[in-house]
Amino acid sequence: MARIVQKFGGTSVGTIDRIHTVAGRVRAEIDRGNEVAVVVSAMSGETNRLVELCTRASPVYDAREYDTIVAAGEQVSAGLLAIVLQSMGIQARSWLGWQVPVRTEDHHGKARIREIDTRELLTRMAQREVPVIAGFQGVTDRARISTLGRGGSDTSAVAMAAALQAERCDIYTDVDGVYTTDPRIVRKARKLDRITYEEMLEMASLGAKVLQTRSVEMAMKHGVRVQVLSSFEDRPGTLVVGEDEIVEQEVVSGIAYSRDEAKITLVKVPDQPGVAARVFGPLADRGINVDMIVQNIAADHPGATDLTFTVGRSDLDRAVQVIGSLKDQLNYQHLVPDGSVVKVSVIGVGMRSQFGVAQKMFSTLAENGINIQVISTSEIKISVLIAERYTELALRALHTAYGLDASG
Ligand code: ADP
Ligand code: ASP
Ligand code: MG
Repeated sequence: MARIVQKFGGTSVGTIDRIHTVAGRVRAEIDRGNEVAVVVSAMSGETNRLVELCTRASPVYDAREYDTIVAAGEQVSAGLLAIVLQSMGIQARSWLGWQVPVRTEDHHGKARIREIDTRELLTRMAQREVPVIAGFQGVTDRARISTLGRGGSDTSAVAMAAALQAERCDIYTDVDGVYTTDPRIVRKARKLDRITYEEMLEMASLGAKVLQTRSVEMAMKHGVRVQVLSSFEDRPGTLVVGEDEIVEQEVVSGIAYSRDEAKITLVKVPDQPGVAARVFGPLADRGINVDMIVQNIAADHPGATDLTFTVGRSDLDRAVQVIGSLKDQLNYQHLVPDGSVVKVSVIGVGMRSQFGVAQKMFSTLAENGINIQVISTSEIKISVLIAERYTELALRALHTAYGLDASG
């Protein structure tokens, strides 16, 4: 007998029919003699609807109330799946974050899980009851409902698998695994049988929303075996594994993109010590993350430099406000915001020992007439910022250039 956590995403529980389908997957595991705990997302579209209600109520809102509202979607799907399982003769019970409890920090809207008390769940599972746990939510020490950030039920599932010492955490979604790039954009994307934690972490943090970044971090830290697979088709999915379990390392194993990017250029900032600190300090103080940075000497203006950097798209207005309010202090000529950029990244652990990987990216983009605005690199990834209208062209061209296209 093995203990398994099954997580079903929004599309997988999007209708009552689909809830019946996923209940069949729960039953199949039980029939194999396994002990199962289930984690569910809200029905697809529901969390967006709740977020919108929240912002319509007031554009500036209390994050604690935001969490109360947006956590509601998972309550409904957990209850529905429990009812459907019961109708099939399976003992099942829904659990909200506070009932387990899943204890989190009180950073509302993006809380981290601190610990999960599994005692009651384990007792019930030993009595062959299936817990259906609402993902995405927890409870703070002040007894408030918290949520884990968008896509957070992946993290709920992996954390649950770690806490329950489960043999596997199966993430059921609307694609049948992790692909070399988003299969909804590149038709020739290829499914990966295995991917390393490290690569998956980069893919997720650089935009591949198939797994929430924190869920991969947590899986890596606790050695949870994660499998991504389809809730609609019976096919093997993708296993996320340690580097030692991969025999042949690809130079580039995947390409990710993120539209959640915006660029700000400060034109003609004095080229003096301390400028970067004066620009980035106030942004950090307001919780605005700066990602890519490039500084260029303004050729026609000695002693001045153009400073370009990126922030999350939803932070653009606030960042412009902050920098705008410091115009006199910073003494720049003008500021150019651009919300229509995308970050495209190629990722692969094999890159460490290969030359020419970046060059191939730059020349491929050049051949397609795509201008690179900012570049950043690490040991296992290269990211470039380009105009958003080239997203699909860039992804397809790079996918072909790195030999990732599926045959046939
Ligand atoms: P769920 O609701 O099940 O959590 P998500 O929508 O959060 O599902 O994640 C699945 C989606 O991730 C897919 O529909 C796909 O468009 C997208 N995706 C992006 N990059 C990849 C990738 N490299 N491999 C697979 N899916 C990807
Ligand atoms: N329902 C939440 C969201 O849409 C959590 C999740 O689906 O993982 O972000
Ligand atoms: Mg998701």
